[in-house]
Amino acid sequence: MISENYLKRVNLTADVYAVCVQHALTTEKQEIMGLLIGEVDEKERVSNISACVILHRSDKQPDRVEISPEQLCTASMHAEQLAKKLNKPMRVLGWYHSHPHITVWPSHVDIRTQSVYQTMDPLFVGLIFSVFQYDTRNHKNQIQVTCFQAYQNGSELERREIALTVKASSFQNYNLEGIANLTKILIQEEIDSHETQDNDIQDELTCLHNDAFKTLALVHIVSKVARPLCDDLEERKRSVNQRIKELEHLKTELSKD
Ligand SMILES: [Zn+2]
Repeated sequence: MISENYLKRVNLTADVYAVCVQHALTTEKQEIMGLLIGEVDEKERVSNISACVILHRSDKQPDRVEISPEQLCTASMHAEQLAKKLNKPMRVLGWYHSHPHITVWPSHVDIRTQSVYQTMDPLFVGLIFSVFQYDTRNHKNQIQVTCFQAYQNGSELERREIALTVKASSFQNYNLEGIANLTKILIQEEIDSHETQDNDIQDELTCLHNDAFKTLALVHIVSKVARPLCDDLEERKRSVNQRIKELEHLKTELSKD
């Protein structure tokens, strides 16, 4: 059943791509994840993804990217709000997660997880962003992305690659908000994980030690995530202002004649 209803193509807007990559680059130790929102053409079997929801992770075990029913519910509500605002039938179309320091291909666990989502929605899709992979030939960290669905091949579950196109787009406000919330979510995750640790500890020295670690982690978020994001947004603002100036100049030139 899964193989007959597979997706043909996924279009992803450039701003959502940017949010996912920024999210994936926030940590090289854990896998991050989120949900993808947009419109789907059921007849052509094409997904148009134009928004996303960054998810808070409670379980930070490797290769354990599970989405709770509450998170799915929150994302659906977000999709509904966007649908109303934009007057388009927006809904949750898929999920994304990162593979820091490992290949972009889905693991067996990923393919199994994907197949469970497809039983609920046959057009549901998975994106994986591989980050912090050092390319020895070009001496650069490279980013790779794959778009996949699961299908049953005999007794085996396998992955099917889905064609992915990143479409040029300017930043939509709701996607900028996603980027702005990224630091907040990371800080909250850090505070939550320390609170659960602190609850079972009485020893003062251990508490002091843990506090120092918490401070270090928060400073890390500010210097490695918040600062570069601010610099990037400042740079975008500068280039947008430059473009406005150029267009205004062009307008005066044109209205002279
Ligand atoms: Zn994975």
